[in-house]
Amino acid sequence: MVASEVRALFAVASRPEIVSLAGGMPNVAALPLEQLGDLVKDVVSEEGATALQYGSAQGDPVLREQICEYMTLEGVRASPDDLIVTVGSQQALDLVTRVFVDPGDVVLTEAPTYVTAINTFAAFQADIRHVGMDDEGVVPEELEEALVRAELDGRPVKFFYTIPNFQNPAGITMSAERRARVMEACERHDVLVVEDNPYGLLRYDGEPEPTLYSQGSGNVIYLGSLSKTLSPGLRIGWALAPAAVRAKLVLAAESAMLSHSTFNQLVVRRYLNTFPWKEQIKAFNSMYGERRDAMLGSLDAMMPAGCTWTRPEGGFFVWATLPEGIDAKAMLPRALNERVAYVPGTGFYADERGRDSMRLSFCYPTPEQIREGVRRLVAAIEGEIDLRDTFGPAIPTPTEGSQAPTPDLP
Ligand code: PMP
Repeated sequence: MVASEVRALFAVASRPEIVSLAGGMPNVAALPLEQLGDLVKDVVSEEGATALQYGSAQGDPVLREQICEYMTLEGVRASPDDLIVTVGSQQALDLVTRVFVDPGDVVLTEAPTYVTAINTFAAFQADIRHVGMDDEGVVPEELEEALVRAELDGRPVKFFYTIPNFQNPAGITMSAERRARVMEACERHDVLVVEDNPYGLLRYDGEPEPTLYSQGSGNVIYLGSLSKTLSPGLRIGWALAPAAVRAKLVLAAESAMLSHSTFNQLVVRRYLNTFPWKEQIKAFNSMYGERRDAMLGSLDAMMPAGCTWTRPEGGFFVWATLPEGIDAKAMLPRALNERVAYVPGTGFYADERGRDSMRLSFCYPTPEQIREGVRRLVAAIEGEIDLRDTFGPAIPTPTEGSQAPTPDLP
């Protein structure tokens, strides 16, 4: 286990003089906190004897029903029996990996991918193999190649982990055509899909795509979370899995923590029962949408030639790629000097890739702070460009024959 680059950055990035485009923290201050305070009080005074007691490892049955209703907003039809509540979707990722992965087993992920998923897979000694993406999501030919290669290596692929909506960190959404091809390839190779969808309801424009779960035939484990649409502090996530898998996940959860926080579950149960939560999601969407626009508008207006970036339709993140020869990690001290923080791309790969890229998040700073943050970032990039033009590139341009050849597949 190693500390993630994102975590290491937190201490510096949270200084008040720094505009942080680094963390992915939801803006919970936008919640009606006083009303939530009353709700918490009511849970204790009216349901305290249950709320303060042990509960089950599968999760409160009423909350599971409510989560099933919540998932219908994304077209997912499920039975509460097939669902396990987890401590955020992070615990679901841990449990799924614990149940499926033995040391050396292959786990396929998009490139780049969610940093703490990489850390979880690595903690169970998975052989993490990346599959490339373009602006429509994972490239089907690369997925097919990775599946065939693992078969030829005699290494079982335990699952393909994907974040199809507003991917963390790339901000990319998988197109409908790609979704169908991913499902077709994974079914043909008999490989499980782990669909991680914490951002799906945070869409600012465009039309939603069907979930992989709703296109699967029992070969998808779907992970959801209320961290981005309500609060990460309550730690309510879930996994939806075929019955046999779900039973194993519950056993693994039992040995990890015995019981969930009954208290948090009852708070969320009451919230979903008594609050206009769909309106709250709309309010989040208009706030985050404005921030996304501020980020894209500032990048369009200010970024130097040679930079590229993604255009997310939702979620929290933009993925930016720097001009040739500029190293995002080496640039970070200069950026912090300019009082702006971001996460260098290398943290989102299990291998050495990502040096020319960075994740920029727009969820937490205000639109004005975002514009100022991009201004500072541009100053840092321009400083690096001057340095490169004087002393040569920080990332050497690969010379012919310097990279290991990729063996052809039969
Ligand atoms: N998956 C992805 C893609 C995420 O971005 C996050 C949080 N940043 C998680 C899972 C975990 O979220 P939580 O445990 O709060 O539900």
